[in-house]
Amino acid sequence: MTKSTRVDRCRWCGRRFERDSGPGRPRTFCRRSCRQRDYEARARAKELGLGDAELVVARQRLDELHDGIAMLEAAIEDVERDISEAPDDPAELDRALQWLLSAARPLANLRLD
Ligand SMILES: [Zn+2]
Repeated sequence: MTKSTRVDRCRWCGRRFERDSGPGRPRTFCRRSCRQRDYEARARAKELGLGDAELVVARQRLDELHDGIAMLEAAIEDVERDISEAPDDPAELDRALQWLLSAARPLANLRLD
């Protein structure tokens, strides 16, 4: 039997991590601190009478998430237009790709904790 790894997403922060498919319960968090935060959030939710699927998130983090999504939506619209207007212009496509990446990166790096 070969030992294989598969990539999972941390249940708390969403970061990707490799997990061994060895014996025992599979890891669902990338770090011990994420498991701890998840535990604390669940305990807090229980105190507040929230359901297991509900989560208390700082307003500032949620605002950052919404801002990031809005920026990404705008970039997607721009890039779709650029591609349809200049489908054969490599310089334009490169510029569009860079713009899309610059809009997507803040979201990829955003953590809610
Ligand atoms: Zn994590």
